[in-house]
Amino acid sequence: MPRAKFIAGNWKMFTAAQAGRDLAAAVAKGFAGNTHARVAVCPPFPYLSLIAGVLQGSPIGLGAQNCYPAIEGAYTGEVSPVMLKDVGCRYVIVGHSERRHGLGESDDFINRKAKAAFAAGLDVILCIGETLDERKAEKTESILDRQLAGGLQGIGADVVDRLTLAYEPVWAIGTGADAAPQQAQDAHAFIRKKCAALLGPDAAARLTIQYGGSVKPDNAADILTQPDVDGALVGGASLKADSFLAIVAAARA
Ligand code: PEP
Repeated sequence: MPRAKFIAGNWKMFTAAQAGRDLAAAVAKGFAGNTHARVAVCPPFPYLSLIAGVLQGSPIGLGAQNCYPAIEGAYTGEVSPVMLKDVGCRYVIVGHSERRHGLGESDDFINRKAKAAFAAGLDVILCIGETLDERKAEKTESILDRQLAGGLQGIGADVVDRLTLAYEPVWAIGTGADAAPQQAQDAHAFIRKKCAALLGPDAAARLTIQYGGSVKPDNAADILTQPDVDGALVGGASLKADSFLAIVAAARA
């Protein structure tokens, strides 16, 4: 059975209340009646409840961009996965490269977030990917290997239907320099092979692996038709309803 495509929009630290409301409403309206792909939007924390209201009754899922690996506690400024579930999130992104590299998050910390999110009943989008220097040094596979082994430590095949991996080469994020479709396919095939060893072959065959990095309406179809590419995590192009919807339209199972 083909894996259904999953397109998620990462709004990063963009939008404000009115802009977010308008964007979510336009995405929901444009997607209405179109069921060929699973779709989610991930607004900034302060607008999650607001956007949950806008999306009520629509098939668009709500996701958060981060969480802290604890149910509650004295963690000033942090947000618990239980709180995210409580305000209507289905998904949470963990391990985004802007947090790994900009904020120094480790594989172990990301793994703890993923486990806490699963325990809270959230679905997890776990991002992995190599930097430009690592690719040039031909370390792509060893980096993916390390991020997968660390990020999936103690996570079993039982949650595979709630897990999405997002392969996001760091050099392609927000740069306009997308990976060539074959580069994406090669990395995705490697990730699936590695997951077969970590989670078992059946789970690996079911696993959703998104590509992320400068996906736009004009390159989406070429990337999304690669056999091991099951969707996209979209940053910049998710901030305009028409470009996000064009990427959704390019996703066919
Ligand atoms: C992202 O934020 O995950 C991303 C892939 O960004 P962009 O599409 O802007 O490269």
